[in-house]
Amino acid sequence: MAEPLRLKAKSASPGIASGPAFLAERRDAAAAPRTADGFGALEKAIDISIGELERLAEGADAESRDIIDFQIEVLRDPTIAEATGARMQADENVVFAWVATLDAYIGELEAADEEQMRARAVDILDIKNRVLGALAGTPIADFPPGSVFIGKDMEPSRFLAHDWSKGGGIALFAGSTAGHVALLARAKSVPMVVGTGRFSAAEGDPVSVDGDAGAVILQAGGMLIPPLAPAQAPAGGMQSESGELRTADGVPILISININDPAEIDAFDPATVGVGLMRSEFSVTSLADAANEERQLAIYRRVLEQAGERPVIIRMLDIGGDKPLAGLEDLPALDPGLRGIRLLLARPEIARVQARALLRAAVFGKLSVMLPMVTFPEEVDRMRELFREEAERLGRRALPHRMPPIGMMVEVPAAALMLDTFGSAAFFSFGTNDLTQYLAASTRDDIDADAGKAAPAVLRLISQAVKLAAGKPVSICGDMAGDPHYLPGLLAAGLRHFSVAPARRPAIRSAITGLNADGTKAAGE
Ligand code: PEP
Ligand code: MG
Repeated sequence: MAEPLRLKAKSASPGIASGPAFLAERRDAAAAPRTADGFGALEKAIDISIGELERLAEGADAESRDIIDFQIEVLRDPTIAEATGARMQADENVVFAWVATLDAYIGELEAADEEQMRARAVDILDIKNRVLGALAGTPIADFPPGSVFIGKDMEPSRFLAHDWSKGGGIALFAGSTAGHVALLARAKSVPMVVGTGRFSAAEGDPVSVDGDAGAVILQAGGMLIPPLAPAQAPAGGMQSESGELRTADGVPILISININDPAEIDAFDPATVGVGLMRSEFSVTSLADAANEERQLAIYRRVLEQAGERPVIIRMLDIGGDKPLAGLEDLPALDPGLRGIRLLLARPEIARVQARALLRAAVFGKLSVMLPMVTFPEEVDRMRELFREEAERLGRRALPHRMPPIGMMVEVPAAALMLDTFGSAAFFSFGTNDLTQYLAASTRDDIDADAGKAAPAVLRLISQAVKLAAGKPVSICGDMAGDPHYLPGLLAAGLRHFSVAPARRPAIRSAITGLNADGTKAAGE
């Protein structure tokens, strides 16, 4: 029998997994999910929705039937489709053209004098969302649970949709340990390696991913290589600890968790202070989702209710650049370099939907909103203004809402250097993943080799910025916070609040107890 072939790779998430190979096809535009590409897609989505409503009507009582019949009538009314079409001709994307048309209609009904008309608004809201759901497009194909995903790269939404409870791992030809899927894999304890270089394997061939040593082992001859360790480590950070955390010299330290998938909140440990970062772009994964206020509200509400009294920071969509959103490519006049808050301000229709969902979710818990990739103070001012406008609109519709504190990520060097000028930001959180790449003139995919070398510069910048924060709450949610190696430097820089992937929490907790607040080792350590 042929010897197993061992390929060297870079470890992106620890642990060892074995399983049949799943060979992902090279991601290309044709395979990428598309939200919708025009009027034809809208007509199809309307037809699907009418079909759904007709099926609903079959078993409904007389009163519900009336409502459904009214909804079908509206969907069949050509003026709605025509108004949407006119908006599309004025350069609007189909999803937002649909939302704008229906919102205008809902607004008219809500403002009507007659009670009966006003009551119709919610029926239109329902069909607005039904058609949005149908516009969402086909999800990316899943792969068999327990298999090892092999490919050039992997979409975060594919990672999130997959059932990892049956084990399995990831081996990427290229990729980076700082990439988004690597970050998700570490959080969910899915073994992963990157940078294997291209290799060939047959679909279903037994393969192992060694995320500890950084290797892929291919078994030619069809025998599965016995795993060297349990295939799937349980989520490390979820065991319960209690008591507040202090450094060896008694300074209180807060540890929050980063979540990427709303389901991660279900295993919320009572000893965790709260959610320091929820990356909303991993829950809102298509343009149709981005336009769907009710769906977003349901996601945020679930997280807030589960967190209870504990604070939750939800970051607005950090999309664009290396974080694609399915369907975003359909938006006209979008500079491919735009990302984070700049994209949200360039396409305020996306920001407005999310702002409304967040304002409404805020009544269900202790929400703060964080803005991604902020570079200049006026970006924060403009987003705050947008929140104020949307709060007013919700007020007019008598929908319960609350204005959350709005803070910002500090992940662009220009912002870190000028932090004292961000008067309207309520709090700051350092994003060292992006801060490192921009400081080192690198990219997230290429930063691996230089991350260690760039760290002193990152730490010096953070230390200066903490002083410029002038007493406002400051935390860190980039991956550096979850690496005990950097803890002395981060403590010395003045940080006292660390938000880390759940799996990194135990390591950080125990490292903190061995250090003084100035980052020096405690006596006897
Ligand atoms: C960061 O840049 O450090 C960060 C936390 O944001 P993300 O990893 O989502 O870009
Ligand atoms: Mg970032």
